[in-house]
Amino acid sequence: MTTTKILSTHCERIAFVYVRQSTWLQVLENRESTERQYNLRERAIELGWPPSRVEVIDEDQGRSGSTAIYRTGFQRLAAEVGLGKVGIVLMLEASRLARNNSDWYRLIEICGVSGTLIADESAVYNPREPNDRLLLGVKGTISEAELFTLRTRLYEGRWNKARKGLLRFPLPAGYVLAGDGGWVLDPDTQVRERLGYVFESFRRLGVVRAVVRDLRGQGLDLPIRATAKEAYGSLIWKLPTLSAVIRILHHPAYAGAYVYGRSEYLSERRSPKTGKASAHVRNVAQWPVRITEHHPAYISWEEFVKNQEQLRQNWGHDENQGVPREGRALLQGMVYCGVCGRKMSVQNRAMKENRSPSYVCGRGYQDGEEKSCQCMTSRPIDAAVVEAFLAAVSPSSLRVATQVVDQVEQDLIRQRRQRDLQLEQARYEARLAQRQYDAVDPSNRLVAAELERRWNEKLERVAELERAFANAERDAEWNLTAEERTAITELSRDLPAIWSAETTTNQERKQLLRMVIESVQVDGNSEMGRVEVQIRWRSGTVTSLSVKRTAPGECSLKTPEEAVSRIHKMAPRRSYAEIATALNRAGLRSAFGRRFTSQHVGYICRRDGLDKRKPGSGSKQQDSSDAGRPAES
Ligand SMILES: [Zn+2]
Repeated sequence: MTTTKILSTHCERIAFVYVRQSTWLQVLENRESTERQYNLRERAIELGWPPSRVEVIDEDQGRSGSTAIYRTGFQRLAAEVGLGKVGIVLMLEASRLARNNSDWYRLIEICGVSGTLIADESAVYNPREPNDRLLLGVKGTISEAELFTLRTRLYEGRWNKARKGLLRFPLPAGYVLAGDGGWVLDPDTQVRERLGYVFESFRRLGVVRAVVRDLRGQGLDLPIRATAKEAYGSLIWKLPTLSAVIRILHHPAYAGAYVYGRSEYLSERRSPKTGKASAHVRNVAQWPVRITEHHPAYISWEEFVKNQEQLRQNWGHDENQGVPREGRALLQGMVYCGVCGRKMSVQNRAMKENRSPSYVCGRGYQDGEEKSCQCMTSRPIDAAVVEAFLAAVSPSSLRVATQVVDQVEQDLIRQRRQRDLQLEQARYEARLAQRQYDAVDPSNRLVAAELERRWNEKLERVAELERAFANAERDAEWNLTAEERTAITELSRDLPAIWSAETTTNQERKQLLRMVIESVQVDGNSEMGRVEVQIRWRSGTVTSLSVKRTAPGECSLKTPEEAVSRIHKMAPRRSYAEIATALNRAGLRSAFGRRFTSQHVGYICRRDGLDKRKPGSGSKQQDSSDAGRPAES
């Protein structure tokens, strides 16, 4: 019965053997099935295909079959079938080829159109025959239904087991399974003590990077469960890395808890490479299964929770760089390392520490090496970028910009005329080709085919030009109306005032910068004492600056010159409080940008030898409170 369907026209084309197992585990464990799949090659030869025309597609091994998008092998198969190059497609249990019904029907459809047969171990189907077609369709439906029930059954079963703490998964380093399925501490003393040391070290140092440096400094490796295919689940020793230590600190198992569902897999976020849903970590409170005191612990649950909070605080600043934050480093989230190209993070210092934040490139640093790629104080770089920003949006440069827009508009009109001509020509050629095709005798097949090909080419050319011109028109839509121009000019005049206004927050300043600046690249390694700064504007242009680094000592904040000289002038005659009021009224601010108080003034007077605590001079009331002032010179 099978052989009657196979004609010589089929055998002249290629036979495709499609081999697939959904997961690597299946690939490893279902060797038998894989072997059966490869045996299909022999079957193709038996059915009459010469070995040279049998091709095996196995690039989808280890890819889940639920949709075809990520299975390049399936796509290739469909494409080749569509081109009519394939005489037969062989696979194990025909319907498993595509477990998604729409893919499956599409393939049957394409096979029907191109006259391609479908075969498995037992039968050959011809999708052009209604009976076979029906059979294939039913098989596909059943297969999908089966997959669905199978999946829900497995899924429910897993959760049921997990809720009882019985679901097994590879244990983290430091634990082994006992004979009764319970978890016990690893009998290897070295493993236990090394993990204990990691927790102890974090307790002492409080920063993961320091823990890594500590371990590396002492030449201590970390026990890790291997996740590579070959040695899956076995214990290996590895050089400590930041991520490995973080993983240990984040793992609730070390606090004696059995946890399942720490990550959720949201189908809308998929890895572009494998198509697998990417994991999103849930908060401790949202863990669906959490059984505390499930097994012996390395640390208490309280300490675990405390560690999570600590980790969150340590890393909270820089992990999410997308949003402008309150911090004083204005280029946060926009600054890139000019040496290695990585995004640089901001190291905010405590306000009381009296130092400006730094931009730090994390390369090397994160893996516990002594030196980071580069780091620099943010203030001079911010100042230079802000200056460039204000200059770029000043009324004078905007006038130039609007002139450029006018010029561009003139150019556009000329370009549009050229494009119209070109398109008209292409349309004429297409019409001509059509007339030639219409004129030829249809029975003169060779000529007709050639003319049809030419006509199609011309039509394609017209479509292509139309597309390109539509894009060009869209890109060119930035001519400004008169109102827009006035609005922009007014805004640009007000901008410096808005920028320095006291009510403007750093967050708002960052938003302003981000509106026009794409990114800023800094390189502090090429020249001693200087930082090369490249501003990439959203318009596509680049501005290069060279900024002087702050020398040590210069770092600390300074009271503005003018305020100091006024204090000097007023000191002999007025009290600290009076001076402070006068300064504030004049709109002067302290080094921190705050209003002056009598303490500020008193500090500067004493520093500069104008101490008023002499018999006869007033304002004694400040004396006691001056002692605690932080150095602010
Ligand atoms: Zn770098």
